[in-house]
Amino acid sequence: MGELKHLHATYNDIHNLIKLSADDLATFKPDLFVAIGGGGFFPARALRTFLKDPSTNKNIPIQAIGLSLYEALPGTTAEQIGHEVIRTQWLGPDAGKTLLGRRVVIVDEVDDTRKTLQYALLELQKDVEKELLALPESERKANRTEFAIYVVHNKLKPKVGKLPPDVPYFVGAEVGDVWLDYPWEAEDIEEHDRLAAEDKVKLIGAT
Ligand code: 5GP
Repeated sequence: MGELKHLHATYNDIHNLIKLSADDLATFKPDLFVAIGGGGFFPARALRTFLKDPSTNKNIPIQAIGLSLYEALPGTTAEQIGHEVIRTQWLGPDAGKTLLGRRVVIVDEVDDTRKTLQYALLELQKDVEKELLALPESERKANRTEFAIYVVHNKLKPKVGKLPPDVPYFVGAEVGDVWLDYPWEAEDIEEHDRLAAEDKVKLIGAT
């Protein structure tokens, strides 16, 4: 990826990466997406298009959580920004019940330091554990929730956050340690797409 510091991805680039990931992700048989907002919303919605169960034609539901690592939220100190994951939205008081017994894919746009994904997985697992403890022991095994992770881009770099090896991890594309510019962040989408085309030329030149 050489000199490239920013990489602009278009809606079509992302849609096509998600389409390419769908067969792989289908092997996990997801029945619920938990999108990490705001970057996970579009990917989760696009994934649903490709993962409809053909036998039932049912849409996979999407739940949303809001986590923030880089944004300066009111009430956060300069030290917290970029270090701590802050919850801005969660699944509601029945989070555990929503998740119980499901095959859940946690969806985000990018895995950078991995802190956000680690936080999301651990906290959702805690919600499930609380709910399981409320069940008779004989019913717990059958009601365990299976989690998987999906990200459009994974940056190949040392990670701060850790994910357990038994949680399946699906990815659209591996990239270097560049800053990805997503189309939903662009104020001028035509200019964004023009820069994305330029990045592609630079990438081809670098190979
Ligand atoms: P983490 O460092 O926890 O893996 O990523 C935290 C969040 O930072 C991501 O969910 C994403 O919203 C944001 N982020 C990290 N790297 C990038 C990037 O290259 N581009 C954009 N637009 N956001 C990023």
